[in-house]
Amino acid sequence: MSSYTVINPADESEVSTVELVDAQATDEAVTRAVAAQKSWARVSPADKGTLLRRFAEAVDGDLENLATTEMRNSGHPITQARWEAGHVRDVLNYYAAAPERLFGRQIPVAGGLDVTFHEPIGVVGVITPWNFPMTIAAWGFAPALAAGNAVLLKPAEWTPLTSIRLGELALEAGLPEGLFQVLPGHGSIVGERFVTNPGVRKVVFTGSTVVGKRIMAGCADQVKRVTLELGGKSANIVFADADLEKAAAAAPYGVFENAGQDCCARSRILVERSAYERFMELLEPAVAAVRVGDPGDEGTEMGPLVSAEHHTAVSAYVPDDSQVAFRGTAPEGPGYWFAPTVLVPSSRTDRVVTDEIFGPVVAVLPFDDEEDALTLANATVFGLSGSIWTRDVGRAIRVARSVDAGNLSVNSHSSVRYSTPFGGFKQSGLGRELGPDAPLSFTETKNVFLAVE
Ligand code: NAD
Repeated sequence: MSSYTVINPADESEVSTVELVDAQATDEAVTRAVAAQKSWARVSPADKGTLLRRFAEAVDGDLENLATTEMRNSGHPITQARWEAGHVRDVLNYYAAAPERLFGRQIPVAGGLDVTFHEPIGVVGVITPWNFPMTIAAWGFAPALAAGNAVLLKPAEWTPLTSIRLGELALEAGLPEGLFQVLPGHGSIVGERFVTNPGVRKVVFTGSTVVGKRIMAGCADQVKRVTLELGGKSANIVFADADLEKAAAAAPYGVFENAGQDCCARSRILVERSAYERFMELLEPAVAAVRVGDPGDEGTEMGPLVSAEHHTAVSAYVPDDSQVAFRGTAPEGPGYWFAPTVLVPSSRTDRVVTDEIFGPVVAVLPFDDEEDALTLANATVFGLSGSIWTRDVGRAIRVARSVDAGNLSVNSHSSVRYSTPFGGFKQSGLGRELGPDAPLSFTETKNVFLAVE
């Protein structure tokens, strides 16, 4: 068995060492999960709900530990990490109501009674990225468990610690052995077995578009169900009639939160040409004011990048001759620090405009009119989220309907609420997570006809 040493990205100290699961141990976990799922499916809907609420209570009781662990593993500011742990609790509570609400339908037919059932799929493999380890895991495991499935969770190599703790908390809360197992390991080994082992009936993958395509292709072999949440290059569209002060003050938080390591990061700011200069004047102090520093400090808004490797990848997008408008601040010394950076590329096809950089780097571009804004916003293979700033309600609705993306916000940068659906258009993904319908994507619809004559 190999192991991985977790490094604190804020100071490069060693946090702990994690044993990695191999292919054989993954197969054994699948066998245990298949058995556990069969028992779980027979647990009454109310009792399933009670156990999920107990799991939520256990997360709440461990909130400070989970938050501190995420801070040390991923470099997230402590206030953000506390929000993330609280979000896991809330997602569990929200889906704890689902087992008693998995309603089928009664459909009028001749000669009998026709009803539909939402049957669990079986064992679900959830593969998560390193940017929001806890929250993204919960979006998969909570509705999947609520719908009567067993779950195997494979966290990203760099950030396994909070997922491992969630696995312990599930057991402490009374979830049956084998029902929710956390398997830290390599994507190419554990993740790959989720795809190839026929005991896993659905794969929920969140990560890069390149790996997502490979997983989708692999799942095709067994017609395995798959949900994909992939990359993004979202647009923050600012019209001249917007409240420019508010739009500029909010823009840094739409892209630099979590050091830009956010699939919903509004990493392209598109500004109507007549307001461009004024907007840039307002943006500069807003970027300078972003508090980048010690993740343990309650006032910190942005921490370091997750790893040395990722720091190198982000830095490659800002060579010395980059068209930098201005930058914020970042600490010196150990840690994978990167100051918030605002670029003004002269070309709409520059790679900083088209690539998902996944760091605190934003490109600002002017546009001419509404049509031009839409052309620019949609000139990407991605389609995850975006924002529209305007005081014109008609325009807000027109533009929101015309941007090819799954999650849009008007005069704000909100993307994720556990009670509303989340997911991408185009190469940003396939399927939706969260919201009232998420448990249904962990079920198969069964139709049963009962003859009355
Ligand atoms: P990644 O694709 O490198 O890894 C994601 C996960 O897949 C990891 O757990 C990894 O071990 C696993 N993996 C790697 N190769 C695999 C394989 N061959 N088979 C099975 N599993 C494999 O992505 P990352 O660098 O961890 O995360 C960053 C990416 O995630 C960004 O592109 C970001 O936009 C995306 N993301 C999307 C969302 C969303 O909801 N749409 C949310 C967060 C992150």
